Amino acid sequence: MTAQLIDGTTLSKQLRAEVAQRASTLRARGITPGLAVIQVGENPASQVYVRSKVKACEDNGLHSVLEHYPVTLSEAELLARIDALNKDPAIHGILVQLPLPPHINAQEVIQAISPAKDVDGFHVTNAGALMVGQPGFWPCTPYGCMKMLESIGYNLRGKHAVVIGRSNIVGKPMALMLLQKNATVTICHSATQDLKAMTLQADVIIAAVGKQKVLTADMVKPGAVVIDVGMNRNDEGKLCGDVDFDGVRQVAGYITPVPGGVGPMTITMLLFNTLEAAERSSAC
Ligand code: NAP
Repeated sequence: MTAQLIDGTTLSKQLRAEVAQRASTLRARGITPGLAVIQVGENPASQVYVRSKVKACEDNGLHSVLEHYPVTLSEAELLARIDALNKDPAIHGILVQLPLPPHINAQEVIQAISPAKDVDGFHVTNAGALMVGQPGFWPCTPYGCMKMLESIGYNLRGKHAVVIGRSNIVGKPMALMLLQKNATVTICHSATQDLKAMTLQADVIIAAVGKQKVLTADMVKPGAVVIDVGMNRNDEGKLCGDVDFDGVRQVAGYITPVPGGVGPMTITMLLFNTLEAAERSSAC
């Protein structure tokens, strides 16, 4: 068997066209959806991510502001900026690019963002809303994975989904979203004793670890759907995921590539959340 590819780039194009259309409708009513992206310090990976986010906004009719501060910015100064953006009616979404320098408490900063503008979905109010099944902003990466499953018409009801990784930004919200769609969910992590025994039972596997080849062909049930969230560099310095793509694609039913899989979907869902924030604010 050779797995069918779930192409995040193509799917993103379709979804971003929808964003652009909805943004244009809002603009016609005098509201331009606006995203503020804050970067502190010079982390090269962060630089690439924030540029992609700002460009995606510009390409799809959203207004974006990039605020890039030196690594010496104090936590109090950052909190003051967030307070100002919380009050700025032209800004509907606020994103603070992580990681922050060690002298800044990332949790303090995230909790300072108004939940109504928390388009990353990291605020405890939004995390709690996901937990209890109330409307809120979903974290962009797992949200993008859900859209990928939806794009292949996959019905999660009664299926066994195994999530590898339990971070607050990917693994845990991913598990809750799958549960909400009536999957039976297993969460694995670094203390899981027999990962292979778990993944071999899975109809759907989401790998969100950050280590290449965590998932190999012998760990996958034939026909399973495999979504690779990981972003790593292989020995040649090339971008790769957590999944041994060449091996697993021989066994899986569907697979996402890296690059061109979950990465572009994450940015697409950020656009969706920002648009949604603007639509909600205009409904007030
Ligand atoms: P993280 O906070 O480092 O979490 C990694 C998780 O993997 C932890 O829960 C850890 O378990 C678990 N883990 C580590 N080694 C394991 C092993 N051998 N077997 C099973 N589980 C293991 O990372 P993250 O922020 O969730 O990100 C995960 C990956 O996704 C990274 O490569 C990141 O770059 C990528 N990512 C991609 C996107 C995108 O847009 N494509 C977005 C976000 C993240 P413990 O909890 O026990 O330590």
